[in-house]
Amino acid sequence: MNIILLGPPGAGKGTQARTLVEERGLVQLSTGDMLRAAKSSGTEMGNRVADVMARGDLVTDEIVIGLIGEQIEAHGAGTGFIFDGFPRTLAQADALTELLDKHGRTLDAVVEMKVDDEALIARVTGRATCANCGEVYHDVTKPIPADGKCVKCGHTEFTRRADDNESSMRNRLMTYYRETSPLIGYYYANGKLRSIDGLGAIDEVKARVAEAIGG
Ligand code: AMP
Repeated sequence: MNIILLGPPGAGKGTQARTLVEERGLVQLSTGDMLRAAKSSGTEMGNRVADVMARGDLVTDEIVIGLIGEQIEAHGAGTGFIFDGFPRTLAQADALTELLDKHGRTLDAVVEMKVDDEALIARVTGRATCANCGEVYHDVTKPIPADGKCVKCGHTEFTRRADDNESSMRNRLMTYYRETSPLIGYYYANGKLRSIDGLGAIDEVKARVAEAIGG
């Protein structure tokens, strides 16, 4: 099974992708995570994209298509993928279609997660992530426990993304509407689009995702 989670920043794509990894053995391909890893390991590409990411602009299609191509190449034919944060432009969507075709794979569904802008801004501005297992916290809705330990793995370090601030977030949203939202029409036209309400408890949204991808 190969699926795309499509939605604005903060819609919960990463959270739902992690559940699908745990419960269905799919492999999460998050271009945002790959780019942050390149940035923190100080590769030449990582340094090149750092400012673009901090502003909330998109890095070039060439870079992200290259990253995704390498990952598809690296996994065996039996692997199912969840594309999280990719594609984000029509050129990326076309490239993904070609990459999947080339490897004899098909796209099963594109799950669009809808969340209104003010809720998105509130979500990302309080966001923190366990540096070890990726569990996501929020200052208001799910604070880091008082003992400072991750509920999932007990680790005590948490990270906050450089672009999880209001001005960057507003730009990321504008970029989403300008560059990425045309993909909703693109996948609607080819019959792959399933739109769900992304607001609500994680388990509620999880049930909607499951229904959208066929149980
Ligand atoms: P994300 O973690 O998906 O919110 O991505 C964080 C940032 O990485 C974005 O704001 C972009 O600067 C960059 N990025 C991630 N995925 C892509 C992509 N598919 N195309 C272009 N830029 C991307």
